[in-house]
Amino acid sequence: MAQHIVEGLYNLALEAVRQGDIEYARKLVREAEELRRSLRMRKPRVLRRGVCRNCQVPLLPGVTAQVRTRRKGRVTKLIIKCEVCGYIHRYHLRRRPS
Ligand SMILES: [Zn+2]
Repeated sequence: MAQHIVEGLYNLALEAVRQGDIEYARKLVREAEELRRSLRMRKPRVLRRGVCRNCQVPLLPGVTAQVRTRRKGRVTKLIIKCEVCGYIHRYHLRRRPS
């Protein structure tokens, strides 16, 4: 399945991050994204949430990302900071994931 190939590339990118090779990780993310686009696939969750929007690095908590949740009343916000470029992603957590 094409989706497994795209996700497989993303997993390889995470592995590259673990080994400290940020540039190679970005390259793998780009490849996964290009493959997805050429297949006109819907963007898998890992590519929507697991990649820095600013610098395209795979976000791995504790390595390239700092993950926090903040609760305000009924709304829980997920705050993911990219440790590579400092970009802060904010998401609203819903009961049903979109
Ligand atoms: Zn970044």
